[in-house]
Amino acid sequence: MQENKVALVTGGSRGIGKACAIELAKAGLDVIINYAGNDEAAQKTVEELKTCGIRAQKKKFDVSNREAVEAAIKEIVDEFKRIDVLVNNAGITRDGLFIRMNETQWLDVINTNLNSAYFVSNPVSKVMIKQRSGSIVNMASISGIYGNIGQANYSTAKAGIIGLTKALSKELASRNIRVNAIAPGFIQTDMTKDLPVDSIVEHIPLKRLGEPKDVALAVKFLAVDSNYITGQVLSVDGGLVI
Ligand code: NAP
Repeated sequence: MQENKVALVTGGSRGIGKACAIELAKAGLDVIINYAGNDEAAQKTVEELKTCGIRAQKKKFDVSNREAVEAAIKEIVDEFKRIDVLVNNAGITRDGLFIRMNETQWLDVINTNLNSAYFVSNPVSKVMIKQRSGSIVNMASISGIYGNIGQANYSTAKAGIIGLTKALSKELASRNIRVNAIAPGFIQTDMTKDLPVDSIVEHIPLKRLGEPKDVALAVKFLAVDSNYITGQVLSVDGGLVI
């Protein structure tokens, strides 16, 4: 019997990551979701994933801790033998105007949203190189494209993610590994629950916030359905940044 392909989704227990995990599971991949602390949400997501008839597992580790990441990737490979799809999705915000932004706010966001992509992609790309196949999808943001007031840390991290996506896509293409990014606009998750929805929607041509599934369908397309797309940044933003 042929084994399923295997996907790792960081920050896959809630929000956009959870929706990505579900779409990948529906496509028949075994899915490992990573998360940081909310065990209950992670357990609920794993149970939901299992209803798709695939193997699902939760792995708690901090994506900004290199040693923790390396240990977790080793455990995943020992058990699942391969990693076909990596979605670097885990992320946080610590917003504030730049002149008042303290070092902790800056470093937390850079470590969790940008350095994590290095920590996770580095060991995973070695696995993919051995397999001679793989697909990485990085979660950027429109903030990394247009820069956002109050988000100097976040915009910097997401712009970095876009640079990493382009450089890595060139380095890994000869090994049949594709690397793409998604730039979501405003998506309804815990991260955006306190934002002033009405004044934001006014500026969105499609006149609504996005749903996590709107992003997840694009991730599934880049990760699984496509095979001649690499180095691209796909905006999923209702037309906000055109
Ligand atoms: P969310 O609902 O707040 O979920 C965040 C997820 O990341 C949770 O699973 C959380 O796990 C996990 N996480 C946070 N810090 C982590 C860490 N250090 N190590 C491991 N896991 C960690 O966020 P979201 O809105 O779905 O955002 C997902 C991604 O999309 C982020 O990269 C974000 O920047 C990006 N994005 C979001 C929007 C938006 O409008 N929502 C727009 C553009 C880009 P726990 O529950 O255990 O903490």
